[in-house]
Amino acid sequence: MKSATSTFAAEHNVATVCPLDCPDSCSLEVTVQDGRVTAIDGSHVNPITDGYICAKVRRFPERLYGADRLLYPAVRTGGKGFASFKRVTWEEALGTIAERMLAARAQWGGESILPYSYGGSNGLLTQDTSDATLFRRLGASRLARTVCAAPTGAANLGLYGKMASVAYQDVPDAKAIVLWGANPSASGIHLVPYIREAQRRGAVLVVIDPRTTPLARHADIHLAVRPGTDLPVALAIHRYLFEEGHADTAFLDAHTRGAERLRERAHPWTFERAAAEAGIDADRLRAASEAYASASPALIRCGWGQERNRNGGSASMAILALPAVAGKFGVRGGGYMMSNSATWGLTRPWIGADEPATRVINMNRLGQALADETNPPVKVLFVYNNNAAVTSPHQQKILKGLERENLFTVVFEQVMTDTARYADVVLPATTFLEGYDIARGYGAISLQLGKPVVEAQGEARSNADVFGELMERLGLRSEGDPSGELEEMLDVLSKLPESIGSDLRDRGSAAPPFAGRPVQFQDVWPLTPDRKANLFPEHLDAETPAGLYSYQPDPATAEYPLALISPASERTVSSTLAELPRPDVHLLMNPGDAAARGLVEGAAVRIFNALGEIRSTVTLGAWIRPGTISLPKGLWRRHTANGYTTNALVSDALTDLGGGACFNDARVQVERA
Ligand code: SF4
Repeated sequence: MKSATSTFAAEHNVATVCPLDCPDSCSLEVTVQDGRVTAIDGSHVNPITDGYICAKVRRFPERLYGADRLLYPAVRTGGKGFASFKRVTWEEALGTIAERMLAARAQWGGESILPYSYGGSNGLLTQDTSDATLFRRLGASRLARTVCAAPTGAANLGLYGKMASVAYQDVPDAKAIVLWGANPSASGIHLVPYIREAQRRGAVLVVIDPRTTPLARHADIHLAVRPGTDLPVALAIHRYLFEEGHADTAFLDAHTRGAERLRERAHPWTFERAAAEAGIDADRLRAASEAYASASPALIRCGWGQERNRNGGSASMAILALPAVAGKFGVRGGGYMMSNSATWGLTRPWIGADEPATRVINMNRLGQALADETNPPVKVLFVYNNNAAVTSPHQQKILKGLERENLFTVVFEQVMTDTARYADVVLPATTFLEGYDIARGYGAISLQLGKPVVEAQGEARSNADVFGELMERLGLRSEGDPSGELEEMLDVLSKLPESIGSDLRDRGSAAPPFAGRPVQFQDVWPLTPDRKANLFPEHLDAETPAGLYSYQPDPATAEYPLALISPASERTVSSTLAELPRPDVHLLMNPGDAAARGLVEGAAVRIFNALGEIRSTVTLGAWIRPGTISLPKGLWRRHTANGYTTNALVSDALTDLGGGACFNDARVQVERA
């Protein structure tokens, strides 16, 4: 069944929304000619994205009609990893999958089935709808979706109960902005003009990032910290606030708990000690702290760069606690900006089954889960909205697991990804231009309905269609379950809070709460039991290996001294769109580090540690700090000379809070290849 059934006339424009894993949720105007997408541009429905979009999604037609697009169901005919498949019918493909699932459940129990997904199609319809109903009813293993935002999520929840945060439109009111671990020029581009407007009005901009990002070039103070040292830097600012008379004691007394415990943990971190650990200048750290403490409104934009290491949870907590200690709330443009996905207060009442008490597998330990032959082994892996072969830590372990002949792997995808090459059965999925979705911005506070723009290519089908049919074949369908994508969409709309559902149905977008511009501690309050910020949640202190706000030192050794990071780029949304042609990928290295190794621009290099190696070429730039090197996030295996990406050098160790991935803890050496 096609997702869109209308007949598409000659050239016309269709309004929809981008649901990809990006904070902005752009409203789109798509030009269609003779049933084919010819251009994608921004529309003005979302006032924040206001008519322009990123270069990534402008290229989406190349994915829609490209050579890598999956058009038909197929089964494997050659070795795993070699992408040799033969076309089959949907009937055969779904019949085989149902048979293998039933057999695995009968012999090994439901937990031998592992659904594996993340934000590849980030809308509310394409994840945690019929897929969740199916896997819950099956009694499958549950997946902890922790590859991104788990430590920041745990921190925000522990401190403020995920209170709504400052809106983009209020950024220009800020007189000081601290951009911490975020590079909106690459992801979430619509924040950039608001920050620049604040600067035009006189705001001080502090950027904390190991790289001289585009906004760092325009910053008043740039602190190029060593990866993983954000925690001592944030604690040094706390120490300054508490011990030099800049803490807002009236606010702390009235609206927080745990300030004294935080103060104790911050006390050892003088500017000098934190600066030495972070490899920055202590005077500049003091200047940044003074600029933040003395300004009002003052805003912290907390990103995700600081969470991707062993200290990521505590670092995110310490950063997010700063506005409470400094008393920056209660004024428009002041406070913090984090993920705003919880602002709408949506639960998912449309999932047709309660969550079973089955085992939970952390997605950052997929390799281990696939290798571990015990209790019970994973026998069926169902991957959708995800490209685990390149996006999850410890790549070799994952690839080895995917090669297991006694593992039955289904990959339900839009294009032939590196993960799909290992599938036993490949199912073609629709893109957001071929079906319905509901896109919720997690930076911009927006909720919009996405509609099919063109008919599905080939035999691609929606998640709702496929998971619904699998439920039927597995005997798991219940009366009242929606059938197919259209019914699923109507079901979800009917179960959203009434005004939101009707707004989406009637207008295509919903009116945001607090007019989309909540003021923290004025319009919105911590969603904690006593409406106070909890600066030292005891349960998180117990959960954290070294204790909350306790620094775990840099894992560098003399053998592997360089920190390898993999930040988001302007080419891909995670690994989505990485199949499109791009200029050659290079390892970015500081000229000083290159000279010390006898490397020149363009040299072929091997980047290695005890886990493995990557072959690439090097490009030199002073815009990365010495001791840190960088390859872009979201690379596919085709982008390096030996088919391994940064995750080949990343262990599956977890962050101190939230079970996140320690991508930036890879310590490596580089030499001429
Ligand atoms: S990826 Fe982000 S910036 Fe690009 S079109 Fe989608 S929402 Fe907009």
